[in-house]
Amino acid sequence: MDTTLTNLLDLDPAQLIAYCAELGEKPFRAKQLQRWIHQFGAADFDSMTDLAKSLRDKLKTRAEVRAPAVISDHTSSDGTRKWLVDVGNGNAVETVYIPEDNRGTLCISTQAGCAVNCRFCSTGKQGFNRNLTVGEIIGQLWMAEFELRRTKGIEPGPKGERQITNVVMMGMGEPLLNFEPTVTALKLMLDDNAYGLSRRRVTLSTSGVVPMMDKLSQEVPVALAVSLHASNDALRDGLVPLNKKYPLKELLAACKRYLEFAPRDFITFEDCMLDGVNDRVEQAAELVHLLRGRVPCKLNLIPFNPFPASGLKRSPHDAVLAFARVLQEAGIVTTIRKTRGDDIAAACGQLAGEVQDRTNARIRLQARRGASEVRP
Ligand code: SAH
Ligand code: SF4
Repeated sequence: MDTTLTNLLDLDPAQLIAYCAELGEKPFRAKQLQRWIHQFGAADFDSMTDLAKSLRDKLKTRAEVRAPAVISDHTSSDGTRKWLVDVGNGNAVETVYIPEDNRGTLCISTQAGCAVNCRFCSTGKQGFNRNLTVGEIIGQLWMAEFELRRTKGIEPGPKGERQITNVVMMGMGEPLLNFEPTVTALKLMLDDNAYGLSRRRVTLSTSGVVPMMDKLSQEVPVALAVSLHASNDALRDGLVPLNKKYPLKELLAACKRYLEFAPRDFITFEDCMLDGVNDRVEQAAELVHLLRGRVPCKLNLIPFNPFPASGLKRSPHDAVLAFARVLQEAGIVTTIRKTRGDDIAAACGQLAGEVQDRTNARIRLQARRGASEVRP
């Protein structure tokens, strides 16, 4: 007999209906089950009191609700909370909660490591380890929402105040290179019997995997952020190696196509501001030339978060302001991202900091499991 338990966090709404059908249950049972899992944060089938006892008993022997284990949990002085999450074999990814006055944003990871290898990104420097499963992606939202509620004493279920109102796929990894699990997780985020987030409140950030941008527009067109970083192909080739495969002309054309399906009428472009590399006013002017009149967009300038071995420096604030002014004067809405959570290394691009040192991650994992002997 197969004794592997099915992790119900891996199933999207349609798959959960099919799973329940296999157990001889009607679709509305799947909806109930889904609400227990994703709206009440329930992992214990016995607590799902409106399911028939016979169904609960069946589920207990065949299924489980298992989010990835949390290795560490830190809260920054500005309220940003970061979890390091175990995804097996010494790999860990990070999930970051960013509270603001009228919303709570969760930044989630989609891969352990990343193959794109952007020059300024510590996740990229780590190399690609593996794709996260659906359960590991949606499990970050599941874990964070209900952990935040527990911390604040807020009841689970639709009556309790929702902690996470927005999700950004801007953690570790390139979501469009882990397409199917990412799409399934997105569907759960939007489903009314799960998190019920609107498409405008869920943003996927990509380094520009053109064919998958088109696919996303057909399957689950959430808000899109595109990591641009450069105003011409020569510069972008050196920062985002994927540009050699999908150069700016193709990328911008894909952005325009995406807008036909997007929940917002603009694309957010992100520029990681690197001292002396992509932060000069002439480059801002080149960017205006590239974008104006072509793609309705907003620009988000991200102060580079340095990490050892990058060999790059953060642009001085004055340079970022001058860069922003050129864009704003040309009519392109431009914002400068506030850096959050630096004191716990939760800022953009710092997310691999702790994992890069594999030994360290393993020591932590073993410590958590209560291992008395640690071999590096
Ligand atoms: N792979 C996707 C999503 C994850 S990266 C992408 O590249 O868009 C999310 C954002 O963090 C990207 O805009 C990326 O440019 C930015 N980022 C990466 N490293 C950074 C660093 N060291 N400092 C600031 N931002 C960084
Ligand atoms: Fe990957 Fe994004 Fe980092 Fe580039 S910036 S290496 S695409 S995670």
